[in-house]
Amino acid sequence: MEKTCKSCGEAFVTNKTQKIYCNRSCGENYTTRKRQKFQVLNDIAKGTKASITEYYVACDLMKKEYTLFRSMSISSFCDLVAIKDGQVYQIEARTGIRYEDGGVLNFPKKMRESTNCLAVYEQIREEIFYFDIHLEPTKLY
Ligand SMILES: [Zn+2]
Repeated sequence: MEKTCKSCGEAFVTNKTQKIYCNRSCGENYTTRKRQKFQVLNDIAKGTKASITEYYVACDLMKKEYTLFRSMSISSFCDLVAIKDGQVYQIEARTGIRYEDGGVLNFPKKMRESTNCLAVYEQIREEIFYFDIHLEPTKLY
Protein backbone atom coordinates (compact mmCIF):
# COMPACT_ATOMS: atom_id res chain seq x y z
CA MET A 1 0.00 0.00 0.00
CA GLU A 2 1.09 3.56 -0.51
CA LYS A 3 1.34 5.79 2.55
CA THR A 4 2.45 9.32 3.35
CA CYS A 5 5.36 9.65 5.76
CA LYS A 6 4.26 11.42 8.96
CA SER A 7 7.69 13.07 9.19
CA CYS A 8 8.74 14.22 5.71
CA GLY A 9 5.40 14.03 3.91
CA GLU A 10 6.81 11.93 1.05
CA ALA A 11 4.88 8.97 -0.31
CA PHE A 12 6.28 5.50 0.37
CA VAL A 13 5.23 1.92 -0.28
CA THR A 14 4.93 -0.64 2.51
CA ASN A 15 3.10 -3.84 3.36
CA LYS A 16 3.03 -2.97 7.06
CA THR A 17 -0.19 -1.23 8.16
CA GLN A 18 1.48 0.10 11.34
CA LYS A 19 4.31 1.85 9.49
CA ILE A 20 4.00 5.65 9.55
CA TYR A 21 7.51 6.79 8.57
CA CYS A 22 9.29 6.11 5.27
CA ASN A 23 12.46 5.05 7.11
CA ARG A 24 14.00 4.85 10.56
CA SER A 25 15.84 8.20 10.49
CA CYS A 26 12.66 9.97 9.40
CA GLY A 27 10.93 8.53 12.47
CA GLU A 28 13.79 9.60 14.72
CA ASN A 29 13.78 13.12 13.27
CA TYR A 30 10.08 13.39 13.89
CA THR A 31 10.47 12.28 17.50
CA THR A 32 13.36 14.71 18.03
CA ARG A 33 11.33 17.61 16.61
CA LYS A 34 8.38 16.67 18.79
CA ARG A 35 10.54 16.47 21.91
CA GLN A 36 12.07 19.87 21.19
CA LYS A 37 8.60 21.37 20.90
CA PHE A 38 7.97 20.55 24.53
CA GLN A 39 10.00 21.81 27.47
CA VAL A 40 10.89 18.40 28.76
CA LEU A 41 13.90 17.01 30.60
CA ASN A 42 16.01 16.80 27.42
CA ASP A 43 19.02 18.85 28.44
CA ILE A 44 19.25 17.61 31.99
CA ALA A 45 21.96 15.09 32.91
CA LYS A 46 20.67 11.51 32.78
CA GLY A 47 21.23 10.82 36.50
CA THR A 48 19.47 14.04 37.48
CA LYS A 49 16.56 13.25 35.18
CA ALA A 50 16.23 9.83 36.83
CA SER A 51 16.26 11.47 40.27
CA ILE A 52 13.62 14.02 39.27
CA THR A 53 11.46 11.15 38.03
CA GLU A 54 11.92 9.27 41.31
CA TYR A 55 10.99 12.30 43.37
CA TYR A 56 7.81 12.90 41.37
CA VAL A 57 6.82 9.26 41.83
CA ALA A 58 7.75 9.44 45.52
CA CYS A 59 5.55 12.52 46.03
CA ASP A 60 2.62 10.82 44.32
CA LEU A 61 2.98 7.75 46.56
CA MET A 62 3.38 9.78 49.75
CA LYS A 63 0.25 11.77 48.85
CA LYS A 64 -1.47 8.39 48.63
CA GLU A 65 -0.16 7.66 52.14
CA TYR A 66 2.21 4.84 51.25
CA THR A 67 5.13 4.20 53.55
CA LEU A 68 7.99 4.78 51.19
CA PHE A 69 11.62 3.66 51.04
CA ARG A 70 14.16 4.85 48.54
CA SER A 71 17.09 2.76 47.37
CA MET A 72 20.49 3.69 48.81
CA SER A 73 22.40 2.39 45.78
CA ILE A 74 21.88 2.82 42.05
CA SER A 75 22.58 -0.92 41.64
CA SER A 76 19.60 -1.94 43.74
CA PHE A 77 17.00 -4.10 42.04
CA CYS A 78 14.35 -1.41 42.40
CA ASP A 79 14.20 2.33 42.99
CA LEU A 80 11.47 2.57 45.59
CA VAL A 81 9.57 0.30 47.94
CA ALA A 82 6.04 1.42 48.77
CA ILE A 83 3.98 -0.32 51.43
CA LYS A 84 0.35 0.12 52.40
CA ASP A 85 -2.29 -2.23 53.81
CA GLY A 86 0.08 -5.21 53.58
CA GLN A 87 0.76 -4.58 49.89
CA VAL A 88 4.42 -4.23 48.99
CA TYR A 89 5.35 -2.60 45.71
CA GLN A 90 8.92 -2.89 44.46
CA ILE A 91 8.93 0.01 42.10
CA GLU A 92 11.06 1.01 39.21
CA ALA A 93 10.61 4.64 38.19
CA ARG A 94 10.81 5.62 34.54
CA THR A 95 10.52 8.82 32.60
CA GLY A 96 7.87 8.78 29.90
CA ILE A 97 6.29 11.18 27.46
CA ARG A 98 2.87 11.52 25.89
CA TYR A 99 2.72 14.04 23.06
CA GLU A 100 -1.04 14.32 22.80
CA ASP A 101 -3.84 14.22 25.37
CA GLY A 102 -4.95 10.63 25.65
CA GLY A 103 -2.22 9.59 23.21
CA VAL A 104 0.31 6.79 23.51
CA LEU A 105 2.52 6.91 26.59
CA ASN A 106 6.10 6.34 25.45
CA PHE A 107 8.49 4.83 27.99
CA PRO A 108 11.16 2.10 28.16
CA LYS A 109 9.14 -1.12 28.34
CA LYS A 110 11.84 -3.43 29.71
CA MET A 111 11.19 -4.38 33.31
CA ARG A 112 13.53 -6.06 35.77
CA GLU A 113 12.22 -9.38 37.12
CA SER A 114 12.72 -8.34 40.71
CA THR A 115 10.30 -5.43 40.51
CA ASN A 116 6.52 -5.76 40.61
CA CYS A 117 5.54 -2.26 39.61
CA LEU A 118 6.65 0.27 37.06
CA ALA A 119 5.93 3.93 37.75
CA VAL A 120 6.11 6.21 34.75
CA TYR A 121 6.47 9.95 35.20
CA GLU A 122 4.95 11.67 32.18
CA GLN A 123 7.07 14.78 31.80
CA ILE A 124 4.79 17.09 29.82
CA ARG A 125 1.67 16.88 32.00
CA GLU A 126 3.58 15.70 35.08
CA GLU A 127 1.32 12.72 35.70
CA ILE A 128 2.30 9.35 37.12
CA PHE A 129 1.16 6.09 35.54
CA TYR A 130 1.58 2.69 37.16
CA PHE A 131 2.01 -0.67 35.46
CA ASP A 132 2.00 -4.20 36.86
CA ILE A 133 4.47 -7.00 36.08
CA HIS A 134 2.71 -7.68 32.77
CA LEU A 135 3.02 -4.00 31.86
CA GLU A 136 -0.74 -3.63 32.17
CA PRO A 137 -1.91 -0.28 33.53
CA THR A 138 -2.76 -0.47 37.20
CA LYS A 139 -3.88 2.01 39.85
CA LEU A 140 -2.21 2.58 43.18
CA TYR A 141 -4.59 4.10 45.69
ZN1 LIG B 1 9.92 10.29 5.59
